[in-house]
Amino acid sequence: MLSAVRRGILGGTFDPPHLAHLVAGETARRELDLDVVTYLPAGRPWQKAGREVSDPRHRWEMTRLAVAGVPYFVADDREVIRDGWTYTADTLATFSADEDLVLILGADAAAGLPTWHQPQAVLARAHLAVMDRPGVERDEVEAAAGAVHWLDTPLLGISGTLLRARRRVGGSLRFLVPDAVLAYIESAGLYARD
Ligand code: ATP
Ligand code: MG
Repeated sequence: MLSAVRRGILGGTFDPPHLAHLVAGETARRELDLDVVTYLPAGRPWQKAGREVSDPRHRWEMTRLAVAGVPYFVADDREVIRDGWTYTADTLATFSADEDLVLILGADAAAGLPTWHQPQAVLARAHLAVMDRPGVERDEVEAAAGAVHWLDTPLLGISGTLLRARRRVGGSLRFLVPDAVLAYIESAGLYARD
């Protein structure tokens, strides 16, 4: 009998996708022996209802470009094309029941798990692999999500918020996002100076 597919799932706004997203996926693959890591840009992330998020079309293109050329990374558009708010519990239910799912999260996201829609359904369907993030203690995460697999990554103090702000003041994003993502940001005029 074939063994089940072991799939990592890394969701996000990806506005833009950056180094930390790729490091998290790479580390999870190696440490948890995953066959594939699926990058899932969110359609309408409910956690970000208060802020302006780039058009899903741009976030999808950037995600596709960010993972291109890595044979075990795939970009998946099942959330971007869906109407309505994006809930992780619903998304996990769209993967085949015979797959082993590992949800890959940054510590800030994992600490927020109790506020999600149907957190118990999420924990019942997927294991959690968490990447440390500056400003978030492991205790906070474990209080919220229980025992998780901690990814052994360097602490990376970068975020989409920081990169958008950096570009708005004319700073460089080179080496913080893949070259193809940077080229896309430039040609689409994203995060332009105010
Ligand atoms: P924003 O500032 O717009 O929220 P972000 O950098 O947090 O952008 P998201 O798309 O919100 O990126 O995050 C997707 C996932 O990646 C989340 O689980 C988040 O916690 C994780 N993540 C992003 N950046 C880091 C980082 N530097 N260290 C650890 N985890 C990260
Ligand atoms: Mg975030």
